[in-house]
Amino acid sequence: MTGPTIEEDGFSATRLFNQGFSYTYDDVIFLPHYIDFPTDAVSLSTKLSRNIDLTIPCVSSPMDTVSESSMAVAMAALGGISILHYNNTPSEQSSLIRSAKSRRIPFISDPIFKSPSDPIDSVSEFATSPCIFVTQSGTSKSKLLGVVSRSDWDELKDKDAPVSDYMSPAPVSAPSSYSFEQAAGVLAAQKLDYLTLVSNGEEVVDLVTANDVERIQGLPKLGLPSLGTDGEFMVGAAVGTREQDKERLELLVKAGADVIVLDSSQGNSIYQIEMIKYVKRTYPGLDVIGGNVVTAYQAQNLIQAGVDGLRVGMGSGSICTTQEVCAVGRGQATAVYKVASVAERGGVPIIADGGIANSGHIVKALVLGASTVMMGSFLAGSNEAPGVYEYQGNRRIKKYRGMGSLEAMAKGSDARYLGDTAKLKIAQGVVGAVPDKGSVLKFIPYTMQAVKQGFQDLGASSLQSAHDLLSSGVLRLEVRSGAAQVEGGVHDLVFYEKKSF
Ligand code: 5GP
Repeated sequence: MTGPTIEEDGFSATRLFNQGFSYTYDDVIFLPHYIDFPTDAVSLSTKLSRNIDLTIPCVSSPMDTVSESSMAVAMAALGGISILHYNNTPSEQSSLIRSAKSRRIPFISDPIFKSPSDPIDSVSEFATSPCIFVTQSGTSKSKLLGVVSRSDWDELKDKDAPVSDYMSPAPVSAPSSYSFEQAAGVLAAQKLDYLTLVSNGEEVVDLVTANDVERIQGLPKLGLPSLGTDGEFMVGAAVGTREQDKERLELLVKAGADVIVLDSSQGNSIYQIEMIKYVKRTYPGLDVIGGNVVTAYQAQNLIQAGVDGLRVGMGSGSICTTQEVCAVGRGQATAVYKVASVAERGGVPIIADGGIANSGHIVKALVLGASTVMMGSFLAGSNEAPGVYEYQGNRRIKKYRGMGSLEAMAKGSDARYLGDTAKLKIAQGVVGAVPDKGSVLKFIPYTMQAVKQGFQDLGASSLQSAHDLLSSGVLRLEVRSGAAQVEGGVHDLVFYEKKSF
């Protein structure tokens, strides 16, 4: 008796994605293949664009509630990259790049500064920092003169006295180019509570405390960081495709941006094609990522114009209402597969942008042809995302908003959604909130471990081997019925707690 042949079990990707349906990640499921290596043999190293290598396939989205300096530092330290948003002035966006690039440790502290003649107003000034720095100008931009610790302040009789009366001499400092391991070494060797990191011999850029070191050392080990050709953390930046964006671009390049993302919700436009050509002509050494696209035709046009990477997704974002408002877009699994088929031939890596809610979605995006995933909501509840935590009942939450929401567009982000000069603003996104997720330095390494397990189940030890297994038809997949999707989640329990790590 002969059993079913491999061809009869499940569908190949070509067959599954050519039936006229638009599939999301949740619609499809891979059939397991054959394991002949351990989980840790899986490599997730990848390319963001033609010339940018990453050790993990993670990119933070250019959104003003996701990607600023803290996120950029953490993502680069993890081996991924952040694309800084441009819902700000060109000089603000450039300073975010400089701030991230001035760091070599995986987090950003927020030191407090006083000038010698200032008093300290209340003990609450020590809430976020174990000490207050005294500099000539009272900002980080001038020479460090001394320091006041919380215990100095507690013992003080005249609380109105200027800090120069009771500050201690400038504390031990190290160059801001020190890596986390080097800073940790100095703290341990000299038994210090904190170490000041100083650039140009005087400007304080960071404060590393013994508590920070203990916290970071308790997290999963970081992989190789993403460093640019300048030896500093790699940082990407988004720009629009309007004439005035050329000036912004110049500032971003001067600030050290390692890669540029042209940010349009529908990238296949004359505006974007001209901008791609302009960037390649003006800055030939700079990688430019185009998009967003969801079809082979759109992708082909941008590849011909010279893009080094493509961002894929239209209407799949968690805060996005494009498909509802404009009736245009595509299910994200189909979009990734279709664009990847064309992009791979052109040697252009693709970023699966939007719709990532769990590690399984990342596995699906990568196996279907993406080289990286771009995430908004998945990262927006982290410590590193801009904004402060608020409470909704007992839940700690952080605000997360679409760049096409009326609120964000009021600040200028409408360029992404209105490629021309449309006067009436129609929202293509909403304002909401996401739960507190802690630090990306913790949950991204766990998420990557889960992704590696998915790859192992599929018998793929790298992104390239996953793509090969898929295109050769060895890897099989199916569409999940509604009931299969319910069965694939937790079900039939009176209550449960979902904790992944
Ligand atoms: P998420 O990871 O939250 O599912 O999706 C993030 C992605 O949604 C972003 O990278 C971007 O492509 C897209 N996006 C961000 N803001 C908006 C918006 O207001 N409207 C639409 N249509 N898409 C958005």
